[in-house]
Formats: sequence, C-alpha cells, structure tokens
Amino acid sequence: MPGDRPVHATGSQSTVSAESWHALSAEECLRRLGSTSSGLSQAEARQRLQRYGPNQVEEIRPPNLLRLALHQFTSPLIYILLVAGVVTALLGEWIDAVVIAAALLLNAAIGFTQEYQAERSLRSLMRSLAPRARVLRDGRERMCDSRDLVPGDVVLLESGMRVPADLRLFATVALQVNESLLTGESVPVVKRPEPVPAETPLAERRCMAYAGTIVSSGRGRGVVVATGRETELGKIAAASRQEVQPETPLQRQIGQFTRTLAFIVLVVIVVLALVGLARGQAPLAIFVFAVAAAVSIVPEGLPIVVTIVLAVSVQRMARRNAIVRYLPAVETLGSTTVIGTDKTGTLTENRMVVRAVWSAGDLVWMEMPGEADPAAPRSRNPILPKVEVPEIIEQLSPVELTLVAGVLPNEARLVRGEDNTWAGIGDPTEVALLVAGAAWGLLQEEVRSLLPVVAEVPFEPERRFSAAVCRSGGALYLFVKGAPERVLEMSTSWLTNEGPVSLDREQILAALSLMGRHGLRVLAMAYRRLDQEPDDIAELLQPGQLTFLGLQGMWDPPRAGVEDAVARCREAGIRVVMITGDHADTALAIAEELGIAPRASRVLTGVELSSMDDEQLRRVVRDVNVYARVEPVQKLRIVRALQAQGEVVAVTGDGVNDAPALRAANVGIAMGRSGTDVAREAADIVLADDNFVTIVAAVEEGRGAFDNLRKATFFLVSTSAAMLVALPAAMVLGWPLPLLPAQLLWLNVVTDSLQDITMAFEPKESDLMRRRPRPRNEGILSPVLWERMLLSGLVMAAGTLWLFDWTLESTGSLALARTVALTTVVIFQVFQAWNARSTSRSIFQISPFSNRYLFVANAASLAIHVMALYLPPTQFVLRVEPLPLELWLQILLVAVWLLVAVELHKLLRRRWPSGRSRTVPV
Ligand code: ADP
Ligand code: MG
Repeated sequence: MPGDRPVHATGSQSTVSAESWHALSAEECLRRLGSTSSGLSQAEARQRLQRYGPNQVEEIRPPNLLRLALHQFTSPLIYILLVAGVVTALLGEWIDAVVIAAALLLNAAIGFTQEYQAERSLRSLMRSLAPRARVLRDGRERMCDSRDLVPGDVVLLESGMRVPADLRLFATVALQVNESLLTGESVPVVKRPEPVPAETPLAERRCMAYAGTIVSSGRGRGVVVATGRETELGKIAAASRQEVQPETPLQRQIGQFTRTLAFIVLVVIVVLALVGLARGQAPLAIFVFAVAAAVSIVPEGLPIVVTIVLAVSVQRMARRNAIVRYLPAVETLGSTTVIGTDKTGTLTENRMVVRAVWSAGDLVWMEMPGEADPAAPRSRNPILPKVEVPEIIEQLSPVELTLVAGVLPNEARLVRGEDNTWAGIGDPTEVALLVAGAAWGLLQEEVRSLLPVVAEVPFEPERRFSAAVCRSGGALYLFVKGAPERVLEMSTSWLTNEGPVSLDREQILAALSLMGRHGLRVLAMAYRRLDQEPDDIAELLQPGQLTFLGLQGMWDPPRAGVEDAVARCREAGIRVVMITGDHADTALAIAEELGIAPRASRVLTGVELSSMDDEQLRRVVRDVNVYARVEPVQKLRIVRALQAQGEVVAVTGDGVNDAPALRAANVGIAMGRSGTDVAREAADIVLADDNFVTIVAAVEEGRGAFDNLRKATFFLVSTSAAMLVALPAAMVLGWPLPLLPAQLLWLNVVTDSLQDITMAFEPKESDLMRRRPRPRNEGILSPVLWERMLLSGLVMAAGTLWLFDWTLESTGSLALARTVALTTVVIFQVFQAWNARSTSRSIFQISPFSNRYLFVANAASLAIHVMALYLPPTQFVLRVEPLPLELWLQILLVAVWLLVAVELHKLLRRRWPSGRSRTVPV
C-alpha cells in the first residue's frame, strides 16, 4: 500500500476510496489523487494500471461453449434425423441407427468448430472498436484505449463522447450530459465544476461525470476518480448485460426455408407410406423408405454454410476497412439502393486549407504553404506587438480582425512536433483557420496571451458557429465564427477600411457564392465590443448584435477514388445522395465534381426541408441528390422519406444527433475516426478510414456474400431435389430402394458438406456491381435458380435411376446396383459444384484455380468415396463394393449430362433473361 499518497488500492480492485469527491474542491481532488490539472505522466499511469487493473466493467468473455454446442441441435432438419435415428434403433436396424447418430455428431462437430471460429473472429473485430478516450499524459493531449485509464488521469470530454470513467470535473464549457443510463432521466443535465454538498444524490452531483453517460453538448475536463467496477456504472452493471446477436434476416430466411423442406419431407413420407400400404408392402420396408426420404431431402449443411459465408464476408469487409458491428448488415448492404453520405471527411479528405480571405469588399487570395498539410506557420508578417498594448483590437485592420476571429473561438491547436514540424490537433476546419492566422503572423499562442479568452461557446453542428469573449486592455470583445447565414443573421453593420457602415448583404452574398461555386467551404467572422462581462453569451448571439468582419474560404480536396466509386454505384443501380451541413453552393460544386449530381441540379436545403410535410418530402426525395445546410435531425426525415419510397437506405453519420438516422436507416454507417461514440454505437457498420470508397467496397462484399450463399444453397438443394424425385419414382415403379438410408446420409453429410462450404470462398463475380440491387423480397433462390434446380434434380434422378436399373438388370446384384447409384450421385455432385460457381456464366469462363478450396474439396470427396468402396469397415456400414473400370466410365458418361444440361440452361438464360433483367445495361 503506497504510504506517501492517500490513494488506497487493493490489488486489482480499482478503488481510490469511497470519498465524496463531489463535495471536495477540484484542487483537493487532484491533490488526493496525486495528480495535477495537466494529468499524470505516462510512467505513473502505467504503474497505476498495474495496481488498479484495466478500466472495464466486464471482462470480454470467450464464446459460451455449451450454448454453441446445444445450438447445433436446434434445427427442424436435425429433429427429423433424430426421430429417424430413434425409430431405426427401435426397429433394431442397428447399422442405420449408428450411422444416423454418427452423422448427427459429425454434423454438430463441424457446425460447432465453424461457429466457434466465426464467433471468435467477430469478437476480435469488435474489440478493435473498443472505446477510446482523450487524456492528458505528460502534459500532452493524446488518445488512449479507455481500458487504460487510471484514477488521477485527466480526461477531456466533448459532445458525442461516452464518459469513459467516473470523473470529478474541474473545467466545463456549456457541458451537458445525458445520464439516463444511470438515473433514467433523459433530459441532459448541465454540469459545472463547483462542488456540491456531500449528501447530494447521484442525479444532482453537477460536478461529476459518470462512466457510461453521454456528453450531449459542450466540453469538459475532469480527473478520473474511479475506474472499472468501482464506477457507479460498474456497481450496477455487475449483473452483466449480455449483448446477443439476433438472428439475421438471412438466417431467418434459411430457417423458413428449412421448415418448408421439413414440411415437404413429411408430406412425401405420408404419400410414400400410403402408396406402399395400398400396394400391400411390408410396413418395415415402407418405414425404411420413409427414413431414407427424410435424410436425403434434409440439407444438413445449410445452417453451417450460412454461418461461414457471413463470417468470411465480415472478415473480407474488415480487410477493406469496414467493420461490421451487427451481422444482418452484411446482407442488407448487398441490397442497398441508396447511399446517403456526408460530404466533409467522407467524400473529401477533411484536410482543409484556407485559400481565400474576403473582407471589407476585397477578395484576398492567399499563398498557402503546401496544399495538403498544415505545414509550418510562417511569421513573415508580424502584426502583433510583443508587448501588451491596451485596446490593440482598435488598431487591427478588417482582414486582420477576420483572421483573429478565426483564431480566438477555436478549440484546435498547432503544436511543434519533436522534429520541429508543425501539426494541427483538432477539427480540421479550425486547424485551417489557425494556419491561416499563423501565416499572417497571428500565432495562436500570442493572440491568446494578448487577448485572453474569458468565455466560450464551442462549435456544435446544429448551432453552426462558435464564439469567444476575450479581454483586451480594459475592454471585452466577442468574436464569432461560423456558417455565413448564421453570422449574417447576427450582424447589422459591417467593418470597412473606413470603419463600420451599415451592412451590404448583396455584396457579401456575392462573395460567398463565388467562393462556394469554387467548392470552398466558407466561414464568416463577426465581432462586437462589450461594455461589461456578459452574464449569458447566448443573449449576445441574437440577431442584429454584431459587426460583420469577413469570410474565409477553405479548400478540402475530394478523396482519391471517390469519383470512381460513385460511378460504380451508378452501374450497380445504387443512387448516391449527399447530405451535408455545408452551404448549397459548396455542396453542389463538390457533388458535380464527383458525379453525384448533374450540373446545376436541384439542391434541397434544410430550410426548405423544414417547410415541407412528409408527403411533399416523399415526392421530392425521388430526384434530389444534394441536401445542404441540413441539420442532423433532418437526416432522419430524409431517410424515412426514402424508405417510404421503397428504397433500402444506407446512411453515414458522425455526431450525437446523427444517431436516430443511423438507427432508422437499413444500414447505419459511422465514422471510425471522426465519429463520436454515440454514432458508433448506433451504427451497424463502422468505417475505419471514414472513406466513401469503403462503403462501396462493403456493398460489393455484401452482394458477394449473398451470391455465395445462393450458390451453396443451390448446390445443396439440387441433391435433395434429385432424391425427392428418385425415391418416390422407385417406389411407384415397384423397384427396391436404390439408395439405403446410410448411403443417403453419406452423400448428405460427407461428400456434400465437403463441397458446399467451399462456396463461401468463391471469389466475387466480375459483374457483381453491374447488377441491379437484389429485390428485397426475393428469396434465397432466384427464379432462374429454381428452374435450374428442378432441371438438375430431374437429370440427376433420371441418370441415377437409369444406371441403377441397368446394373441391376445386367448383373442381378442389388448391392452393386446401389453402389453404382451412390457413386453416380457423388460424381453428379462434383459436376454440380462447378455448375454452382456462377449463376450466369459458363464454367468454361471461370478460372478453375480461382477457388482452390473447391478444387481440394472435389478431390477429397472423390478420394473419400473411393476409399469407402475399398475399405472393409465402410464397405460393411455403407454396404458397398468396389466398382470395375467400365462401370466407372459409364457413370462418368452419364454424369457429364448434368454439366451439359446446366450449361445449356445458362446459355438460354443469357439469351433470354427471365422476367426482369437483373443486369443493368451498360
Ligand atoms: P459537414 O456536413 O460539411 O460536415 P458540419 O455539420 O460539420 O458540415 O458543419 C456545418 C457548417 O457549420 C459548416 O458548413 C460551417 O459553416 C460551420 N462550421 C463547421 N465547423 C465549424 C467550426 N469549427 N466553427 C464554426 N463553424 C463551423
Ligand atoms: Mg461535419
């Protein structure tokens, strides 16, 4: 126990003491925690982490093995097998009973290992989304994994963050926190740093921010007083809330599909039994037939294939920077018809550089150091004197004041790195303003020390401006920077080189629209002198209080590859819609450049939007591709209107107020870098690189996943279809059973499942992004695939029955005839796997080596089958015998017809596509 500090730690239990932190002054808290307002040192933090343990409420548990294991036995298909097994055993058919049991176990084992692996990799992906915190260490601000926070750390809060640990706040700027998680109260609470009496209940401790609550607006700074299970949240969350991944629509569809199959099985069995009884067959023979029918029609591999396809595609998406939080998104992405995207940071790089400054009627194009990065500010034009001059503001020109107004209400910082280069920390828009100021000799530190800021209004997207009050000599000044419309609203006069005159709106709007048309993001600046310290800044920000100063226009280059990605979306029948908080002219200029909107097309602004009712909006969203000056809450209305038009909408978001839209969208996409915790938690998918191109990549993967699932299903179900035809046909013809139950299981569980799984690894087809989005109500199999499945079922059934009959006639050996029938189906399956590889292309157009797994699986299933024919134990269980060469050749000759039939069908369907064409004409 450390004696030098009143910090009590017990092992890994992270506790400081049950003190009433809220009743102590901030200084006292810092002192007791052995910290300062500039935080701990990195070394000290590391030591404390050892002592207090990680800041997490629950440990991340490995998947629950028992639940996974039991899960393997919960499908209607499996129930049929279970019943078949039990009845077979009761009848004393021991071999078949054992085979059925073995098949069940094998199936469960494969399913179990696959699901276990899938779940493990999903979890490790989720971990990469672990929340991060902004913390001061060694006096510097840095991001760290929230789990590494320790008592004494100084944490910075801003809107949209989830509070990472229990904090005693010592500085706040308009900080509001939503504490509904702890108190059930959904109205945000205003936080202030002053202590409150010790007996204050949790919900009213204004100087505390508790872990798990959400910063809804403003900024704050506080010292960590409790972490992990010692936090208020940790105390109540001890009874863990397990997050369960619900079934995906895909899994539900497959579930329905298998239930339908189960029903068909029952009907077939009943019909077979009735036919058999009518023909006076022995009940035992009828029963064996029925069991055979049941096990042959049930595609045991299907649920496993779904799991694997989803897992493979989640991994493929992760490799392309799209992290799936919610499994159903994989499939929904594939059927997306509209992508609604932010502009700044998603379509553009979010590396702003001020290119134009306009003030007092003049446009000043600035020569900026480098285009892309905020390089070293050059003090080539020192404006500020080194000594304090009272009333310095009166001596600055309108241009200089425009720049000062960009620097003062500003939360970003320029810092000199170890290698003497400059780097901007914070919002790129604000960094750009700092760099612009610095290039004119207005270094942030100097401006701030000459004109100390006494009050601030931080930027929030729905407010669209930020403000600061600073002291200059004896006077106070308010500076505002923000969206030009907002700033113009607040201004009545305008500062020219001759002093303030009344505002010439026309001229300013002309300058604004000129910059906008060049794609510049424009911020306006204004100020006023105050006679006394304001009680409430908000009052000063009402219309008509300020003097307009000027405009700064910044350039944000479009991201490489976005134009291409937009074009690919168009080919894929997906509309791209821009929804931005930026100005209409700027939005349209960028949209035109990227091909999102045709030249001079309609832009819908937030103001127009708010004057429309839902019905009008629904009509308008059909043609509008650019939404400008949209408030985050309006995004929700746009999403709803699009959905009402039958669209499947994917939408991006980053702020607190984007969360409702993210949840309402079919696929919510959050920004991994610039996104807030709230947005990320509301999203289905998180983009690790904030890039629009990644969204399109994810859509492609989603389509690929569905495609592969389709292929696997087609492959599996066509074998079932064949048996569904062959067995009743044999019975009606009065033939003996062509395949025994054990042999049917062999087909289903061994040779089929080796090959179906490889469909998950089938590479994406080249025309994947030239097809229209899949209609959402279309089932697992498309109409064309249904046709093809019936066709191949018939071919397989006919081929198998014919060879069975022929062998039986010519040799008189039932065992040999059954071996021939079994082998025929095995060979059919190998060909069918190749047929399944593409729904439209000939197999001769597909590289045989592009799916190595399939190759290996074909070989393996053949090899295993040949072995089974020769090894005594399998010979006994399957009741098979070796085949002479000429029978092999005969089988091959028959099996090849499946390939021919499906190739012909593909040819036919390429010529005459069914119903609606699924390929967009290029
Ligand atoms: P976007 O959709 O481009 O991300 P934002 O919601 O970030 O738009 O910003 C909306 C508008 O708010 C911007 O066009 C700009 O006028 C203004 N704005 C953005 N950032 C700031 C800031 N840091 N300070 C003041 N105003 C800002
Ligand atoms: Mg933004």
